[in-house]
Amino acid sequence: TEEKSLHFIEQIIEDSLASGFPQDKLRFRFPPEPNGYLHIGHAKSICLNFGLGLKYNAPVNLRFDDTNPAKEEQEYVDAIKEDLKWLGFNWTEELYSSDYFQQLYEWAVAMIKNGKAYVDSQSSENMAIQKGTPTQPGVDGPYRNRSIEENLTLFGGMKNGDFPEGSHVLRAKIDMKSTNMLMRDPLMYRILHRHHHRTGNDWNIYPMYDYAHGESDYIEQISHSICTLEFVMHRELYDWFLDQIYDDSKVRPHQYEFARLNLNYTVMSKRKLLQLVQENIVNGWDDPRMPTISGLRRRGYTAASIRKFCEIIGVAKRENIIDFSLLEFCLREDLNKTAPRVMAVLDPIKLIITNYPSDPDGSGEEWLEAENNQEDESAGFRKVPFSRELYIEREDFLEEAPAKFFRLSIGREVRLKNAYIIKGESVVKDAAGNITEIHVTYDEDSRSGSGSEASQRKVAGTLHWVSIKHALEAEVRLYDRLFIDEAPDSHKEKNFLEFMNPNSLQIVKGFVEPSLAEVKPDEKFQFQRLGYFNVDKDTTEGKIVFNKTVGLKDAWEE
Ligand code: ATP
Ligand code: MG
Ligand code: MG
Repeated sequence: TEEKSLHFIEQIIEDSLASGFPQDKLRFRFPPEPNGYLHIGHAKSICLNFGLGLKYNAPVNLRFDDTNPAKEEQEYVDAIKEDLKWLGFNWTEELYSSDYFQQLYEWAVAMIKNGKAYVDSQSSENMAIQKGTPTQPGVDGPYRNRSIEENLTLFGGMKNGDFPEGSHVLRAKIDMKSTNMLMRDPLMYRILHRHHHRTGNDWNIYPMYDYAHGESDYIEQISHSICTLEFVMHRELYDWFLDQIYDDSKVRPHQYEFARLNLNYTVMSKRKLLQLVQENIVNGWDDPRMPTISGLRRRGYTAASIRKFCEIIGVAKRENIIDFSLLEFCLREDLNKTAPRVMAVLDPIKLIITNYPSDPDGSGEEWLEAENNQEDESAGFRKVPFSRELYIEREDFLEEAPAKFFRLSIGREVRLKNAYIIKGESVVKDAAGNITEIHVTYDEDSRSGSGSEASQRKVAGTLHWVSIKHALEAEVRLYDRLFIDEAPDSHKEKNFLEFMNPNSLQIVKGFVEPSLAEVKPDEKFQFQRLGYFNVDKDTTEGKIVFNKTVGLKDAWEE
């Protein structure tokens, strides 16, 4: 087997192990904010962190970064856990930043006592003005040199709910002239009189991400805290907050940044995905057009294909945009090996075999042998019913066809998959001139697998079909991309919603072979010549619903 080269974070870990960092102190975390469902971008971070855990036999915590009560909900916590399990990963501990609120508060009090934090009581507008610009240093505000006693009293009052929202904040006292804007006395706490999904109404102040995140890593003794590149400038602050509490008998966490996943034709910000859900532009977070893990799952993606995709795109420090077709490629590779083949007709036209006995063996039908998956010998065979009246795809017939049309037309032969060679004879039309029936004759010696000379005969094409008498009706949901623009959220002048594809969902009534009578949600099939399809959760006793997962790259050849 070929040796895989290390990505840069693995290289960093190898280097620290080589210079004496004990392997049993390696510890990672995946830190979602429970303000939305996980999406394919999160999968990259999940595969990275849990992949390191597996490689180094190290713990990986699931840390809910729940410091913003306004946007967080239990529904999202539950969905995140379900999606992680489905992706195939097990976390060591399930933890919440909100579990650390008391500790974070005590550390903030200690920082006030050390002259490292103060209560600012200005409007946010004034604070923003004083902050300066990247090219212009900031200036100290009027509350910067409050006494420790006054700061402690005010901060205590903030905690107790004595003040309205927006009246005071706690700021780290660092350097208003720092070249790094984030170091110009960043906020540590704001007042929010909000109910929190776990701590209820216990708190009236909530810590900011930059303060909470590194300290939470420290509490959990995370050795490598991995985040995306937008946080490069935050690292200095991450380190500054750690300096305030660090005890050198403990592991000191370090932040490392990698390039986030960007996919074309996709938006991945949770805020935007939430908007699609709330404005009913899609049917929920698990709409099969969504780039969420639950949407991809409902669409028919396999966990293995998503993990494979993450492996192929790799981990690096340069931003790029990945083509959606790479994700589909990984999916096809997997489904090609695992999905049983069946026949379904989605745009039916009636075909009558005029020389087929209407009652050949007393039953008016015959059951033909069909291979379930030519890529998987263990998948075996099934029986499909054949009879005199079939449905084929409307587009598989042309009354007068050009020479290169390798399907059915008058006077030409094609094979019906797993069955016989037929020849187009005539059509029946309605008053408007639309074809309502295609009449054909069949070569009774040409049955597939019969071994006869006629069964070996080469004809121009092979068509899928279903027997009308036996076929089951199914609702089939066909999807196209959700956005018509490659980078819908990159336009300065235009909102991403202006690039919705109005034809991203089409619902058709199709017919499937009777072997699909008992299908259950999330069972996956290849509808021969059409693509891969997943049984939708809307399927009930009386109604089968399929989602088109992805098309076939190449139509099969017999
Ligand atoms: P969003 O912008 O969608 O709200 P977020 O980064 O705020 O994303 P979090 O819940 O905080 O969402 O993300 C959890 C983890 O997943 C973080 O470590 C974050 O860096 C990572 N992550 C989020 N989006 C991506 C992405 N597109 N590619 C790689 N990692 C990502
Ligand atoms: Mg975040
Ligand atoms: Mg976010």
